[in-house]
Amino acid sequence: MSEENGICESCGEFCSPVPVDCGIGPYEYWGATGIHKDIQMLSPCCEAEVVDGGNTLIGTTYHTARKDHADGKVKKGDYYSVSVYRYWRKDGPSWIRNFKKVIQKSRQLELHSAPLDGE
Ligand SMILES: [Zn+2]
Repeated sequence: MSEENGICESCGEFCSPVPVDCGIGPYEYWGATGIHKDIQMLSPCCEAEVVDGGNTLIGTTYHTARKDHADGKVKKGDYYSVSVYRYWRKDGPSWIRNFKKVIQKSRQLELHSAPLDGE
């Protein structure tokens, strides 16, 4: 069995836990020094717990931006896709996340290979 069957509790991406030192590091207490280590198996992306779960793509829609988006990723006039994923965790709630992606002009032409009129 692979360990890559968990998702990060923070961002929901599939990942395998990696050892992360959550200790406070070198310390001094009443003149005595030491190094505090606390190794935990956490997600490499967010250092959050890796939980049983997964994600499923529900669907993708395509849009042309009518104005700049607040997140700064999509600018007015950009053609972009929104992919909706359902994330779920074993014995827990499921939640929905949207991912926006700007589609480059060259790629746009591939997607819409219909002849352009009047250009
Ligand atoms: Zn994460």
